[in-house]
Amino acid sequence: MLNKQQIKKALLEYLNSGTEHCDDPEKRHKILIINWFGFVGFFITILLGLNAYFEDNGQLAFALLTSSLLFFLSLQYHWLFLKKYRFKTSSNLIQVSLLCLMLYLVYSGGANNTGPLWIFLVPPVMMFFGGLKGGTINTLLFIVCYCIIMFYPDDQLLQAQYTYEFKTRVLYSLITLTFLSGYYEHSRFQSYLHITQLSQKFELQARRDHLTNIPNRRAMMEQLNYEYARVIRNKTDMSILLVDIDFFKQVNDQYGHEYGDKVLVKLAQLFLQTLRQQDMISRWGGEEFLILLPYTHFNDAYEVAEKIRKSIKETKLKFNDIELKITVSIGVGQADIQQSIDAAINQADVNLYQAKDNGRDCVWPKGSTNSVL
Ligand code: GH3
Ligand code: MG
Ligand code: MG
Repeated sequence: MLNKQQIKKALLEYLNSGTEHCDDPEKRHKILIINWFGFVGFFITILLGLNAYFEDNGQLAFALLTSSLLFFLSLQYHWLFLKKYRFKTSSNLIQVSLLCLMLYLVYSGGANNTGPLWIFLVPPVMMFFGGLKGGTINTLLFIVCYCIIMFYPDDQLLQAQYTYEFKTRVLYSLITLTFLSGYYEHSRFQSYLHITQLSQKFELQARRDHLTNIPNRRAMMEQLNYEYARVIRNKTDMSILLVDIDFFKQVNDQYGHEYGDKVLVKLAQLFLQTLRQQDMISRWGGEEFLILLPYTHFNDAYEVAEKIRKSIKETKLKFNDIELKITVSIGVGQADIQQSIDAAINQADVNLYQAKDNGRDCVWPKGSTNSVL
């Protein structure tokens, strides 16, 4: 026997089906609405249809059961093509079924003239399914049809009988609800856009170093993993440069932390100018930078590292009339089928220490000495 929890879980899974294949929240929202409305619409119309049948209202029973069948079919279609995100057809089928059923209820009066009560479903449902523009067009079309049926001379298009006051009050309420639903849909969409933009902004910020505005360690780690997957797939290699500023503590001690910050920003710009298009730089921490060189063997990495080292050494940095020369030490690491990213970073770190030991302002290991790697 299924317990309460299991039933709840199964129901939620059923109603959420399709959303798991979809990254776009707006599409997920639409899929959920199709699931919910198809599900609820199917049950309500089948119950009311059976009720009409047992009360000998064959015409109403037929209309309700047909709608119920169409809701059911739209759900089946939706679930059948979920993986292709083909939910538009299901959505159209549900909307057309609903509009036809509502017009029929207006025309026939439904059960004891209560039919028109259901048409207040039209504006919110149309807005949910079609958004502000599509929803407004569909609702206005429905209102036009309502007016034609209700106000045609001598009630010739009506099977039921309503008073003039009833017809007009329902119309006014319907128009009011259309405005409210439209406004609600507009606000919902604006909030969605605002949240999407905010989350994109935060996502971007979470990957940038706030001082130098270059990618941070987190962004670099993701890129390293991405590139390493290519290395494994294509059986190639990639290199890593770990760059550390020499005697940076002295810069801070002598000119102040703020000055040190300016130096870091300027160096980040210099790195960006020196690197090739395919390379990526990040602030790895403090005054250390990690540079990723995709599809680059150790020998070529050494060349790139030397170019960077020389360009920094030759650049005179000048802030607040204080001029200074900065040098960097660089350790090289290589990731390939045999050596993981972590091992490559570790190797670059060890080589960086060696470069410092060798007197700083140099790259280690030297390009031709492959054996050191
Ligand atoms: P070495 O040549 O051995 O690398 O010497 P170093 O002085 O560069 O190395 P050490 O590790 O002793 O000092 C690193 C300095 O970097 C100390 C720290 O204050 C400074 N630093 C780290 N992050 C920042 C930062 O964001 N801004 C500034 N201004 N300084 C920073
Ligand atoms: Mg350091
Ligand atoms: Mg340093």
